[in-house]
Amino acid sequence: MPDAGLVGRLAGIVGQAHVVTDPGDMAAQSANILHGNRGLPRCIVWPASTAEVAAVVRACAAAGVAMVPLGGNTGLSGGTVPLPAGDCVMIGLRRLNRITDVSPEGGTITVQAGCILADIQACATQHDRLFPLSLGAEGSCQIGGNIATNAGGVNALRHGVMRDLVLGLEVVLPDGTVLDMLRALRKDNAGYDLKQLFIGSGGTLGIVTAAVLRLMPLPRHRATALLALRDSAAALDLLSRFGAQFGAGLVSAELMDALTLRLVRDHAPGVTIPYETATDWHLLIELAGPDADLPEKLTELLADALDAGLILDATLAQNGAQAANLWAIRHATAEVARQLGPRYAHDVSVPVAAQPAFLADLAARMQAWPEVTLMIFGHLGDGNLHVLTGFPGLDRDAPALPELRRATEDAVTAAIIAHRGSVTAEHGIGLNYIHRLVASRPEPEIALMQALRLAVDPQRLMNPGKVLP
Ligand code: FAD
Repeated sequence: MPDAGLVGRLAGIVGQAHVVTDPGDMAAQSANILHGNRGLPRCIVWPASTAEVAAVVRACAAAGVAMVPLGGNTGLSGGTVPLPAGDCVMIGLRRLNRITDVSPEGGTITVQAGCILADIQACATQHDRLFPLSLGAEGSCQIGGNIATNAGGVNALRHGVMRDLVLGLEVVLPDGTVLDMLRALRKDNAGYDLKQLFIGSGGTLGIVTAAVLRLMPLPRHRATALLALRDSAAALDLLSRFGAQFGAGLVSAELMDALTLRLVRDHAPGVTIPYETATDWHLLIELAGPDADLPEKLTELLADALDAGLILDATLAQNGAQAANLWAIRHATAEVARQLGPRYAHDVSVPVAAQPAFLADLAARMQAWPEVTLMIFGHLGDGNLHVLTGFPGLDRDAPALPELRRATEDAVTAAIIAHRGSVTAEHGIGLNYIHRLVASRPEPEIALMQALRLAVDPQRLMNPGKVLP
């Protein structure tokens, strides 16, 4: 039976002012970006230190009450929906917001889990270093959430995903034990690399309270361009050419389809599409490095690509404002997707070289549903395509929608499996995509995940109902 005195004990740990029980306040502080308020927790607790998080977790575990970790609440897979509704405690990390150490020489920064991603980026820049994780929600997502979701973003091509940027972690386990793995080691082969368990675990194995992260040299020069591609296969040819000429200097390669550009042109105020050229696919690329002649070298490469017929048109940003406008096109995608009406997102990952074949396969499978509009954009450089299936002619409560959704989701999942891809590249499984995980992975893989979860959380109190069935 849930413990009636739990809320009082939590207030004793974090202070009465940091426990929220008023339904209106809880609704405002926990509304999910996709689901709104699908039920409320018993309370929301805002601890201010690792010790307080551990004490809160111990109290919840002793009372047998489920816990839901809450970061910036920008996750796109429903991982923060409070379950079981009415009888879980949400543990918010925003008061753990200190950057506790910066070592430009060592290339590390040590942060508490509630730090906002943009604040970490700004701090690194002040120390003449780069923290490369970058994504549309960086002004409000927290590093603990980025770690729990193994976030990817627009620089993953060059710098890897969150997993590649974490050196050390501090985690509070589901029984309240503090696991101090806050080490700044580049090489560490001492037993199992336990921190990897928690990265991408969607808050189901413990609460991340702090991390040691890698910093990179701050690039002196950048070059940004938007290219009108001959076709999707041309993008792969271009990736090879960029690799040969610039090595690791290619930081981002973001694909957008014709519909994406049209919606941005028509519905994103203040954002300009720099050319009129009609084609099915466009590629936003960014190079970064120490050389001042980056734009000149890029211009030469693009002239060759134009001659070879790989691209039909190109715009190279001449200054920071033009570069910002090109990135604004990419960052407007989530907003303009609203024009699709009811829509469902697929965060697809396929091997980089398989992308043209995957896209052709997907288009062929979708011909069975002429009422579906496909909108595709994503991080082509690392094989991550965001596929939206929209139903512009239907209301959200149209009786035909659930069956159409299920059938088209199955078709997208089948195409992913056919190309040995993943049903989630960077957004995680959370609440929304458990069925896709189960449909796409062999049973022994799911069973091992279940066994690991049970070993870490025998009571299954940490974010239940998420990631695994
Ligand atoms: P939350 O949404 O609060 O939580 C996400 C999950 O992590 C939940 O399951 C939660 O329980 C758990 N969690 C949160 N904090 C902790 C913690 N300290 N310890 C343990 N578990 C925790 N994602 C990408 O990967 N790439 C993108 O390019 C990208 N672009 C986006 C653009 C927009 C406009 C938006 C709205 C989102 C985008 N996202 C992207 C998704 C989202 O920003 C990321 O998933 C982000 O990492 C979530 O961080 P958060 O702090 O908001 O986590």
